[in-house]
Amino acid sequence: MSKTLKILNNVQELDTGSSCNWCPGCGDFGILLALKQAIFDLKLDPESVMLVSGIGCGSQAPHLIKVYGFHSLHGRTLPVATAMKLANNKMTVIAIGGDGDGYGIGMGHFIHAARRNFDITYIVQNNQVYGLTKGQTSPTSEHGYKSKTTPEGVIEPMIRPIALSMTAGASFCARGFAGDIMYLKELIKAGIQHKGFSHIDVLQPCVTFNKINTYQWYQQRIYKLSDVEGYDPSSRTMALEKAEEWGEKIPVGVYYKEDRWTYEDKLPMIAEKPLVDHSIENIDIGPAIESYF
Ligand code: SF4
Ligand code: MG
Repeated sequence: MSKTLKILNNVQELDTGSSCNWCPGCGDFGILLALKQAIFDLKLDPESVMLVSGIGCGSQAPHLIKVYGFHSLHGRTLPVATAMKLANNKMTVIAIGGDGDGYGIGMGHFIHAARRNFDITYIVQNNQVYGLTKGQTSPTSEHGYKSKTTPEGVIEPMIRPIALSMTAGASFCARGFAGDIMYLKELIKAGIQHKGFSHIDVLQPCVTFNKINTYQWYQQRIYKLSDVEGYDPSSRTMALEKAEEWGEKIPVGVYYKEDRWTYEDKLPMIAEKPLVDHSIENIDIGPAIESYF
């Protein structure tokens, strides 16, 4: 029997009633609002959405949006999200986590999920610091940035997340700003609608520990790629050039977009129906074992 889709009447129906302990003014509030509004605008049935997080301040998100949720381990957001996508490829899978989580301990998973082009949306709350553990340097902290772990300033250069996901093979690479909720919402909607790995790096002020990259700092530098005459997100050359831009000017918007097959497209066993709908009764694994030995 087919299930009736649940259509939400207003975005408040996505509230769980749980409270969070984010600092007043934290950029995570803007990202949460944009994500909820995107789910509502796209008329997604909450029971068809899976939200997976790792460990970090922003990783409380699955507790705050009434869809299926999984609060996983530090750096393991994407392995859990990809497993869920493979188990039930009809679900809309959204992964969310911080820069330390995704670009530090989870870096290997990030590169391989992008390379495989799973149909997942990955939102990174990039505050350029480890917020939950009280302000240590992260992989996106700028060169010279001083923190408790780098009191003399960061020696190494920061990573470029968009260039990284693009060269790894992600088919949708974008960047938003937590201080522009409406624009971020549109980016998240485009990422969810895109078939393939959608990486959305979100510049997210940490008002408590990062006193350099503030709302004002970003507002003075951000400009929209959609306002750049002649910018073409299907051009790898243009996208890579913009992905390197940081400092006086920082682009936001869709850097790169490409239509190509996903990992799931190449799996014949889920072509007709999701793995969860396959029966596990009367399966004879004998021939498979014999052929192995
Ligand atoms: Fe937000 Fe920073 Fe506070 Fe964490 S420590 S809740 S990232 S402002
Ligand atoms: Mg962080």
